[in-house]
Amino acid sequence: MYIVFICPNCGTPRYAEAGQKTALCFGCGRQIRLDPGRIRILFRGEGRQEAVEALRRYKMRRGVGPGPPPSR
Ligand SMILES: [Zn+2]
Repeated sequence: MYIVFICPNCGTPRYAEAGQKTALCFGCGRQIRLDPGRIRILFRGEGRQEAVEALRRYKMRRGVGPGPPPSR
């Protein structure tokens, strides 16, 4: 099973295997503890491909692309 979650430090979304204890954030380079009480999980799915798709949809919705994210 895979999850898609938001980095609590910098807000970058990424995916990881649900069984992992930690994951490295590509946005800020920190180790994120995959604790459901502390991180925001956007998606859970059986396959890696589903997680990748969910991540892509989330990024498109947010308008995240090259360059800094919109500040609001
Ligand atoms: Zn981060």
